[in-house]
Amino acid sequence: MIHNFNAGPSVLPKEVFEQASQAVLNFNNSGLSILEIGHRTPLFEDVMNEARSLVKELMMLDDDHEVLFLHGGATTQFMQVPMNLLNENEVAAYTETGTWAGKAIKEAKLFGHVEIVGSSKHTNYTSMPHELSVPATAAYLHITTNETIAGTQWHQLPYDCGVPIVADMSSDILSRVLDFNKFDLIYAGAQKNMGAAGVNLVVVNKNILGKVNRTIPGILDYRNHIKEGSMLNTPPVFAVYVAMLTLRWLKEQGGVVAIEAINNQKAELIYSALEAIPFINLPVAKEDRSKMNVVFTMDDPAKEAAFLQLCKEQGMYGVKGHRSVGGFRLSLYNALKMESVEAMLQLLQEFAEKNG
Ligand code: PLP
Repeated sequence: MIHNFNAGPSVLPKEVFEQASQAVLNFNNSGLSILEIGHRTPLFEDVMNEARSLVKELMMLDDDHEVLFLHGGATTQFMQVPMNLLNENEVAAYTETGTWAGKAIKEAKLFGHVEIVGSSKHTNYTSMPHELSVPATAAYLHITTNETIAGTQWHQLPYDCGVPIVADMSSDILSRVLDFNKFDLIYAGAQKNMGAAGVNLVVVNKNILGKVNRTIPGILDYRNHIKEGSMLNTPPVFAVYVAMLTLRWLKEQGGVVAIEAINNQKAELIYSALEAIPFINLPVAKEDRSKMNVVFTMDDPAKEAAFLQLCKEQGMYGVKGHRSVGGFRLSLYNALKMESVEAMLQLLQEFAEKNG
């Protein structure tokens, strides 16, 4: 049996693969493939509408928050956010928490001033900042709720920072209950918790738009996408369909509340097992550990090589840590089953007994 711990694109529910495969051959008994239907047909309009309304429902969004499915991945949002929200003479507050926050900061500087209001650089990004000093005049505060590479996650969200909050939730979207209405803009590439690569979820409070004085190219202006019901141009049809199936699956599991309980259990089991092994090092501060991406190293490169080989033999995919961090990274996204966690626990125990 295969266990997929990839950081993204990553594991999806089996039902989603089956339904998506069927739709490639014959979509909704139309005789057409999902890959060849027009996006302005009722067949696809229904998919887009259902995907958008499932997000609203699962995140319990109010009517000020609009849901969009856009091209370009989260990386495009690093640029699109400041282009739409930050004037050249204004300051945006950013938290500097790792690789992904760093990329967002770099792009924001192209459009206005960036003030770092909290940083974990001094811990080599093995923690999250807990005290932020956000200027009241900042156009917004940007956070990365889960740093996929460093394996850190915000557990206390800065809801009361006094300015609009923008969050990159690419690697923990819909994995836990948050007060989503407190965010003015949320973005997330779909390829971890929400479906296939190629589409990006954007949730935006429409009241924060229209306040910058630059000319925004049409395709990059959120207001145009809202006006056109997320169909300004041809959407990534198949990726939106896979996202819709994944959202339906999540609803069937009992929604975000239910999946969070399972995610907590999975993370607790893995971290406890790792903590019990003396030659394993967990670099991230305990209170800032990610429940999505568990990062660890071993005290000896030979052990790491042996464990990697063992994982390969046992069908454990995607366990190698990011090249900038080394060691291992186990991604425990929504669709990773408890049986994969149990298989990993067993492997770790056997390995510890042999190598302890
Ligand atoms: N933000 C975070 C937290 C990520 O983990 C990633 C990708 O892994 C990105 C942004 C970039 O996403 P994309 O490749 O969809 O542009």
